[in-house]
Amino acid sequence: MADALLGPAEIRELAARLGVAPTKKLGQNFLHDPNTIRRIVTAAGLTADDVALEVGPGLGSLTLGLVGAVRHVHAVEIDPRLAAALPETVTAAHLTVHNADAMRVRGADFDPAPTMLVANLPYNVAVPVVLHLLAELPSLRGGLVMVQKEVADRLVAGPGSKVYGVPSVKLAWYAEARAAGKVPPAVFWPVPNVDSGLVAFTRRDPPPGVDRTDVFAVVDAAFAQRRKTLRAALAGWAGGAVRAEELLVEAGISPQARGESLTVAQFAAIAGAAKLSPTGGKLSPSDRQPEGVDS
Ligand code: SAM
Repeated sequence: MADALLGPAEIRELAARLGVAPTKKLGQNFLHDPNTIRRIVTAAGLTADDVALEVGPGLGSLTLGLVGAVRHVHAVEIDPRLAAALPETVTAAHLTVHNADAMRVRGADFDPAPTMLVANLPYNVAVPVVLHLLAELPSLRGGLVMVQKEVADRLVAGPGSKVYGVPSVKLAWYAEARAAGKVPPAVFWPVPNVDSGLVAFTRRDPPPGVDRTDVFAVVDAAFAQRRKTLRAALAGWAGGAVRAEELLVEAGISPQARGESLTVAQFAAIAGAAKLSPTGGKLSPSDRQPEGVDS
């Protein structure tokens, strides 16, 4: 079984042999369609020099496709039964299985360093996993992930879109993302009740001169009250609406704008203004105004 991709019969047989009943909690929907595997591997744009990181190899469907395309595969699987069985399904010597929670892995866990993230992600933790790995593994040059279609739409959305939000801006901090296609429920076992989507991303330099955590604090504040103007939404973060307005003006952004219209560079400019400001983003008591005055 080491070389052939897994179809529906093989997936059922493997699961039965291992006594695996897929759980919702771990987002276990296994791919059983070789065409979809080939499609993912092709869309990922891998080179023979790449080191792939796969989160949640499950029964090994995608892992089998990846070992044929790259020089090394790291597979991080939280379920100990699946992690233990993977080397029997995928016998390639250039596979390292990590029985670990992808949310907790660190760069030092991987040798050689991963260059591409390619995964059919567990849907309940897809966004935090992608963001964690991009933060933790600077060696990643990009990736291709499969997530719930609705989440894929959010990840690739740009300013002005109805679904543009925290995941879109945070992914944009690290990478340029684009939609790479839709995947129907029928290619999974068990069959999920939603479509899936592929998201491809390529790492790029983040906006210069600001810390990621400072920028993400502005993003979180702006979208926590996304219907409010930035002047109101950022009041709590800045120490008052007047101070928020000052920082927005300094950053060249209209205080009446809403977070959903801003690029990641503009969020960075707001964080930068707070950093450069003599009062460090804090408000003197005389500046204070009731919050939400212009919401
Ligand atoms: N890659 C396989 C496939 O395409 O058939 C399985 C994908 S399935 C959607 C998600 C996999 O992620 C499951 O095997 C599940 O056990 C694993 N998983 C869930 N949460 C995880 C986590 N936090 N860290 C690592 N693996 C996780």
